[in-house]
Amino acid sequence: MSYNKNLQFGSKCVHSGMSEYEFGPVVPPIYQTSTFKFESAEHGAALFKGEADGYIYTRMKNPTIEAMENAIAELEGGHKALGCASGMSAISTVFISLLQSGDHVVCSKSVYGPTLTLLQTIMSKFGVESTFVDTDVEGAIEKAIKTNTKIVYVETPANPMITITDLEAASRIAHKNGALVVVDNTFMSPALQQPFKFGVDVVLHSMTKFLNGHADVVAGIIVVKDEDMYMKMRKTLNQHGGVIDPFNSFLVHRGLKTLSIRMQRHCENSQLIAEYLLNHPKVKWVRYPGLKSHPNYEVGLKQHSAPGGMISFELKGGFKAGEVLMNSVKLCTLAVSLGGVETLIQHPASMTHLSMGAEARMDAGITEGLVRLSVGIENVKDIIDDLEQALSKS
Ligand SMILES: *Cc1c(COP(=O)(O)O)cnc(C)c1O
Repeated sequence: MSYNKNLQFGSKCVHSGMSEYEFGPVVPPIYQTSTFKFESAEHGAALFKGEADGYIYTRMKNPTIEAMENAIAELEGGHKALGCASGMSAISTVFISLLQSGDHVVCSKSVYGPTLTLLQTIMSKFGVESTFVDTDVEGAIEKAIKTNTKIVYVETPANPMITITDLEAASRIAHKNGALVVVDNTFMSPALQQPFKFGVDVVLHSMTKFLNGHADVVAGIIVVKDEDMYMKMRKTLNQHGGVIDPFNSFLVHRGLKTLSIRMQRHCENSQLIAEYLLNHPKVKWVRYPGLKSHPNYEVGLKQHSAPGGMISFELKGGFKAGEVLMNSVKLCTLAVSLGGVETLIQHPASMTHLSMGAEARMDAGITEGLVRLSVGIENVKDIIDDLEQALSKS
């Protein structure tokens, strides 16, 4: 990978992860095979002993997967990466690799729902205890740390309030107490935020979102800083089995080529939409890292190069207005997930968080008129026109 170390980020997106292949293709071929032929008994033995470099079986290693992993490791500024079947596979692989019975995790309260559930209902079965705190509040992590804390798990920015946690401070506090910092960097992608620069130990993503960027793949990735950590995670992933497949790796690698320009457009559009919403009479408040009103605006400036593509806002008309807005949008697609080229809109109170009930929603900060927007790369005028006509009805 040394050939492109000095390129600018956008150029790395286009070129990273490429190797030499038979026939000279300009993109990595799809090695859609479950297994690889040995040249001889001795060759097979050497591969299994780790004395020869090569491929044995796709759950262990595959050239198409490896190309995508190398590309992302390079974009994140990490040592190596591990492609997983989903973001949740990446997260569970990290927990299983680094934790054992009796350990404790400090986790952002605003974290992807299934991550919270994984810690609360599955890891807890194996004797791992977790404390959920507002990691964006100064001093909160330190207060929650115990002598057996092994991981400080941070998602930034995070839903539903686009909460920003100070990565440098989180790393300093965790390391002082002998814990590792794991960051879910899904919302920003390495184009806007590279957590290793702030001392964190492991970076992971749902590649389903911005990295792939086209809403046609479910996949995840773990990026690590050194070979020890890599071997530890690779062994877990081999045993646990939640690996990505060659075709999805190919699609993600293809998506990566436009990551830099996609993120630029997501950010430009989002800033204009956030400002538009801020001035709309039916909107109570807007939460976006590019607005000075964001409570951690300054922290954001320190650690991400642009504010990203995720906006939350509250409708003055509450639950009903949320439902009407969902039924009135035409260009914005009514769907969960995020990070694709198309603008997605959703209303947590009537959708993702409906089953929680109104009281539990209030406790979690999911207000009745809360709307979440994953801003796409359409022409911004069309997105604003759509919001304008839909808001006029709600
Ligand atoms: C979607 C998402 C995940 C889970 O990823 P999957 O690919 O759906 O398994 C984890 N973290 C964040 C921040 C996400 O948005």
